[in-house]
Amino acid sequence: MYHRFMPKKPVADKTSSKPSRAASESSASVVTLSPRGVARLKTGHPWVYRSDIASADGVAPGAMVRVADARGKSLGTALYSSSSQIAIRMIAGFETPVSDLPALVAERIRAAIAYRKPIVADTDAFRVVFSEADFLPGLIVDRYNDVVSVQILTQAMDAEPVRGAIIATLVEELKPEGIFERVDPRIRELEQLPPRESGLLWGKKSSTIVRMNGVEDGRGRPSPHPSESTSDGRSAGVKFHYDAMEGQKTGSFLDQRENYAAAARYAHGKALDVFCYQGGFALHLAAKCSSVTGVDSSRPALEMADRNGELNYPGREIEWIEANAFDLLRDYAGGGRETARHASRKYDTVVLDPPAFAKTKRDLDKARSGYKELNLRALKMLGTGGIFVTCSCSFHLGAAEFMEVVADAARDAHKSLRLLESRGASKDHPLLLNVPETGYLKCFIFYVSD
Ligand code: SAH
Repeated sequence: MYHRFMPKKPVADKTSSKPSRAASESSASVVTLSPRGVARLKTGHPWVYRSDIASADGVAPGAMVRVADARGKSLGTALYSSSSQIAIRMIAGFETPVSDLPALVAERIRAAIAYRKPIVADTDAFRVVFSEADFLPGLIVDRYNDVVSVQILTQAMDAEPVRGAIIATLVEELKPEGIFERVDPRIRELEQLPPRESGLLWGKKSSTIVRMNGVEDGRGRPSPHPSESTSDGRSAGVKFHYDAMEGQKTGSFLDQRENYAAAARYAHGKALDVFCYQGGFALHLAAKCSSVTGVDSSRPALEMADRNGELNYPGREIEWIEANAFDLLRDYAGGGRETARHASRKYDTVVLDPPAFAKTKRDLDKARSGYKELNLRALKMLGTGGIFVTCSCSFHLGAAEFMEVVADAARDAHKSLRLLESRGASKDHPLLLNVPETGYLKCFIFYVSD
């Protein structure tokens, strides 16, 4: 028989100079949720939409607030946005002293770095902070060797003391040569923040060379050449130019890093990387494949891909084609409209990594047919023994639904697919349970048979 130990209720020390809990509560701004907002928080999701706020009277934009239900019961601490549709982003299921947001942010940046230490190895480019997934909503930090790239996406993270804490912690923990801020003007407008230019926040450096998926030589230095593999069969890594002033996202697609290495494990023969950007997949495949072609509609991306090719494989020819992937695949797969129908070109390895087609739920039908078309045409170019790597970064199209689209394409192309790997984003972009938005990327690797 067990007896429950009943702690004595603490007696308030009225003489203490420390503020009492009640006092700190009353000094915090309070946002009251509607019953629907309360129900949403109970599902574990950290966001509450503006339509589920019952009152936020007098709450300053970007404030750290106490969140309560209609009876005043505390539900935790959140960051408030006065303009975003996502009015509340929870940062703790308890109350934290209001003045401590910069300290809390610093502590969580350190925790995000600690999470990655044991699991993000053999790369000097990775995501250091991934917003909600690291309990820092509105903050994204990427590391590219000695250059750090920061995105600040909410009113709370934009406050000067918070910015100060972000920079100081990153300098202390990562010892970079430069910290660069990439500004998305559209997001600043949505958050009603004053316009700001992208630029250096700290230090001097905004461009560098990174190495991904490489191994070290035991003395802490990367091995010399990407096409060499080490005795345990791992790749010696691929180098990329990084320039914070240029490129999409923070300049690179770090979420695919582990998938590059996975694709390279199976790749062989003649390879085609469609939507290649600066050559992420293509240059990893080049270590294993006899020929590689990369396709993208962006000329600046291809120019960088070409420079990256030269950096890794001096003198080797890698083909970069500037084209609309839909037109090119229609043509290559033998269904050209302008030209007479001709037989499909053949590849041994094909990668598809298109941009997100379903930005909202309303786009889903169109997105499905876009993915289907690309997958169908890619599969027509693969025969028995072929390797097919197909990706989708549309959050609204779940993994099971995306798999169905690929299955549909496989039926139409008369191919059988065996799933070799079902993958998501690299572990430096963690998928946080209860926050499905953190699990947007799907990457399937298939073995193809006729
Ligand atoms: N695989 C890349 C990332 C691809 S992002 C990597 O790992 O780095 C999507 C790419 O698709 C972008 O580079 C963009 O320029 C390109 N793109 C978008 N629409 C396109 C189209 N219709 N045809 C060809 N490329 C397109």
